[in-house]
Amino acid sequence: MPSSLKLGKTIIPYEERKSSRIKRISIRITPEKVRVSAPARTAKGEIQAFIEKNQEWILENWTKLQETMVKPPRVYETGEKVSYLGKELNLEIIDTPHKMISAFYRKDQETLEIKMPQELQGEQRQEAVREILDKWYKQKARAVFLQKLNLWSRQMGVTYNQFRLKEQKTRWGSCSSLGNINLNWRAVMAPEPVLDYLVIHELSHLIYLNHSAEFWEHVARYCPEHAAHRRWLREKGHSLVI
Ligand SMILES: [Zn+2]
Repeated sequence: MPSSLKLGKTIIPYEERKSSRIKRISIRITPEKVRVSAPARTAKGEIQAFIEKNQEWILENWTKLQETMVKPPRVYETGEKVSYLGKELNLEIIDTPHKMISAFYRKDQETLEIKMPQELQGEQRQEAVREILDKWYKQKARAVFLQKLNLWSRQMGVTYNQFRLKEQKTRWGSCSSLGNINLNWRAVMAPEPVLDYLVIHELSHLIYLNHSAEFWEHVARYCPEHAAHRRWLREKGHSLVI
């Protein structure tokens, strides 16, 4: 019977194996699923407790395995892809005799062009590319979010106080009781409808400072597909890294 395990917000395919030959409960994580093996007469509750106790370990290792399965480690070189607004851009590193490092988005070619002093090589060069990417993304994220905040706050008839760009591992945005909105710059790698959802979500907090049914109704009024966008973030959010 296909089954799944829900740990926090992550859903993992799950398999349980019981056998009289198994002496103790153990967990095995493969790229496809999490498998728990247990002695034949182990009670359901005991298995559940074991999973709960190891929840963090399972989540951490499952996520790590998924990430390494889908993405080879970055070397920050020509030929690699970077995502921006849900599009996969080709990274192109161009050596120049100058000292300047710059990033330029060639929209027509779906290419992110990075100019780099040719003297920078090896690790130094990788680090320099990473840094300029970081800067470029933050710059773009600020502009994209501001434009969307202005658009949606007008549509929704609300006014926010201050907007700040944030970098957080697991949070995409927040809104304080003072009406200050924080948004995670990494989200600018996600498709635009997901960004619209994030902005609508935080702007809705200007009216409801909670996640009540009324709050979600309000979000749905401007973003009927919000559940799909939340799922997207849950499933793909961890891959939005440079
Ligand atoms: Zn919220």
